Amino acid sequence: MTETPVLKVDRLIKHFPIRRGIVFTKTVGHVRAVDDISFEIARGETLALVGESGCGKSTTGRLILRLIEPTSGSVSFNGADIAGLDKASMRKMRRHIQFIFQDPYASLNPRMTVGEMLTEPLDVHGLEQGEARDARVRELLQVVGLLPEHARRYPHQFSGGQRQRIGIARALAVKPDLIVCDEPVSALDVSIQAQVVNLLQNLQERFGLSYLFIAHDLAVVKHISHRVAVMYLGKLVEVADKRTLYARPLHPYTQALLSAIPKPDPTLDSERIILSGDVPSPINPPPGCRFNTRCSYAQARCGIEEPVLRDAGGGHRVACHFYDTISSQKTTSPGVSTLSGKFAERLALFEAAKAHAE
Ligand code: SF4
Repeated sequence: MTETPVLKVDRLIKHFPIRRGIVFTKTVGHVRAVDDISFEIARGETLALVGESGCGKSTTGRLILRLIEPTSGSVSFNGADIAGLDKASMRKMRRHIQFIFQDPYASLNPRMTVGEMLTEPLDVHGLEQGEARDARVRELLQVVGLLPEHARRYPHQFSGGQRQRIGIARALAVKPDLIVCDEPVSALDVSIQAQVVNLLQNLQERFGLSYLFIAHDLAVVKHISHRVAVMYLGKLVEVADKRTLYARPLHPYTQALLSAIPKPDPTLDSERIILSGDVPSPINPPPGCRFNTRCSYAQARCGIEEPVLRDAGGGHRVACHFYDTISSQKTTSPGVSTLSGKFAERLALFEAAKAHAE
């Protein structure tokens, strides 16, 4: 029997209305931030959700946490749909789904000591009391690599990396099953990023945690994820296990994102692809395949018919009409261009920092 996934997102849609008028407002359009996406996360698994800024990945995280309500679709946690939960039930559920945000300073209350911040979730969920509570705070600090005396300090007395450790300790306080990590290391220096990634991996192994790791940095994602879901303009365009996706990306967008990664064998084709043009507006996404305005492989069908996410074998799913012919071509068409010329350098730097932090 297959194990129930910790998280199941099914046909999730979030369209934000655009309203005009002061007294009598009317809806004049919608921002189609998340547009019919489905995925699952297994126990102890890290699924990375990647894409350019504005692709809908953070909105997806907020929908899972129910910080915003979906337009339609469902989010199930351990088999139970959380959409229909009332406030009290949702509060109980939040114990099991925690989050870590990009800016640790903004997410910590500057007027509370670290000890107070760590005991707050215990109080909210009626967990440990008295001496057991103090012991739990000490344990949490130790687990994330901080000292017991740090409990008496305030957020401004810590470095960026230490603040993110406090954010992680707070998320761990209530012993969650799933943590939504929204760009948790992108505000940190590369050496600190590597330390936090190592910490998250150690904690996952120790406590069997599942992560939804929202990120734009493919160097970090390569090290922390088990599977990767690539998002473009509110849609998932490719989902695969990490090894497959980095070795054999099938969607032209994923190929562009990954093209600047250095290959271990210098004799292999290592040309870079640069994405030309801007990401279209999610208010008026292009018809057909949403990537067709930037894809050098686009054909007439791409502007008319939307490709569905289909199995390309072994659980590797891709939304492209022509992925099989594209993947059999060795060279890239002219006109497709590079995401970041500095990416190769960035990956090497991150790998060195990670090895040093271990
Ligand atoms: Fe490019 Fe067409 Fe494939 Fe979309 S469906 S990625 S436009 S080839």
